[in-house]
Amino acid sequence: MDLSFTQEELQFQQEVRQFLAENLPAHIVEARKNNGGVFVEKDVALEWQAILVKKGWAVPQWPVEHGGTDWTPSQKYLFSKECYQAGAPMLIPLGLLMLAPVIMAFGSEAQKAEYLPKILSGEHYWCQGYSEPGSGSDLASLKLKAESDGDDYILNGSKIWTTHAHLADHIYCLVRTDSDCKPQRGISFLLVDMNAPGITVEPIITMADDHEVNQVFFDNVRIPKSNRIGEENKGWTYAKYLLEFERGGGFNGDRLLHELGHLKGLMADCKVQTAGFDANGSIARQVAQIEIDLKALEIIELRILSSVSGGGNPGPESSIMKLTYTRIEQSISELSVDVLGYRGFAMDLQPDRSGERPDYISSVVPRYLNNRAASIFGGSQEIQRNIVAKMVLGL
Ligand SMILES: Cc1cc2nc3c(=O)[nH]c(=O)nc-3n(C[C@H](O)[C@H](O)[C@H](O)COP(=O)(O)OP(=O)(O)OC[C@H]3O[C@@H](n4cnc5c(N)ncnc54)[C@H](O)[C@@H]3O)c2cc1C
Repeated sequence: MDLSFTQEELQFQQEVRQFLAENLPAHIVEARKNNGGVFVEKDVALEWQAILVKKGWAVPQWPVEHGGTDWTPSQKYLFSKECYQAGAPMLIPLGLLMLAPVIMAFGSEAQKAEYLPKILSGEHYWCQGYSEPGSGSDLASLKLKAESDGDDYILNGSKIWTTHAHLADHIYCLVRTDSDCKPQRGISFLLVDMNAPGITVEPIITMADDHEVNQVFFDNVRIPKSNRIGEENKGWTYAKYLLEFERGGGFNGDRLLHELGHLKGLMADCKVQTAGFDANGSIARQVAQIEIDLKALEIIELRILSSVSGGGNPGPESSIMKLTYTRIEQSISELSVDVLGYRGFAMDLQPDRSGERPDYISSVVPRYLNNRAASIFGGSQEIQRNIVAKMVLGL
């Protein structure tokens, strides 16, 4: 495996760095820094997406014919690295990086022409309707019923934990089209307009006091069968394909390195303000351990990069990536709260208006609380370990 970059690739890295210096607005960097949620705010993400679309760099992962780039895997890696180092927010992946690969691989030509340009432009903002009350890890037990009625399906049931459903205009749903077979064989994958009559969205407020997730109810919702991806009852195959992208579709090492930079900034502030801060070096040692773990993550990412040469799907190794970056991400946010000490009390969740401290401190506790969910969403850590045991280690 060759992990070094060529002269051309290093030149490309400079080009990206210059583009970011000239085109990444300071208010977007600031909004990302002050955000404690899983995703940045929709309008911030879409503003950055529009800037990247204009340059042709929004979705390096997509094939050129749909608006992607012809970059090598190394260029994609370097682009992602530079974006995070410059403080750019992650684009919301639900449509761009999770649904789009499924449409490209399994959608009809008409679906590709209809949906991909709108996902890219931000005209369509998608959410993911997989989980249901009682069907999370055991996703194949899902019950949302899609009954055939001529050219349509009639949907009844509900989806839960649906991130950004209150902001989305579309939802991709796993639905039950057959109950008289092995659960995995009776699932279909449907594209649903959130404005269809019979859909209601109820907020779920998280312990960080954020409104990011929801429960979505379907009450006799009529959806054309032409909105189905691929074949009826084959949705489980498409659903699993999407999950590989959800768990390991991007590079996280540099995003986390940037987070670690915030933690170090916080430590520097505390050193000035608090006599004897970290006198025994325990926090510094934990930071050093995180840096070592990040190096290991970088090598995992480069190894996957080296073996996937353009166009492939991440495979079950994506579970190793998810396990690793989630653990590191949680360590960083946990240590940030330790460093913040009494200033991180729950009463400080709202941005401080006193002007005595930088706004980003207000995002430390919400980020910590939201990051607890990272070992649950996209498939829990235990489920990822099961996948690694079976599919990677062959146990
Ligand atoms: C913040 C957040 C955002 C989310 N966003 C979305 C979204 O946009 N769309 C969507 O569809 N879903 C979303 N989810 C749902 C998420 O995918 C599920 O919560 C997750 O799959 C776990 O399912 P569950 O909550 O039903 O827990 P359960 O499946 O009930 O699991 C409970 C515990 O049991 C363990 N467990 C279960 N089965 C096994 C097993 N076989 N072996 C070992 N341990 C096991 C789990 O690891 C977990 O610790 C989100 C969740 C959160 C917290």
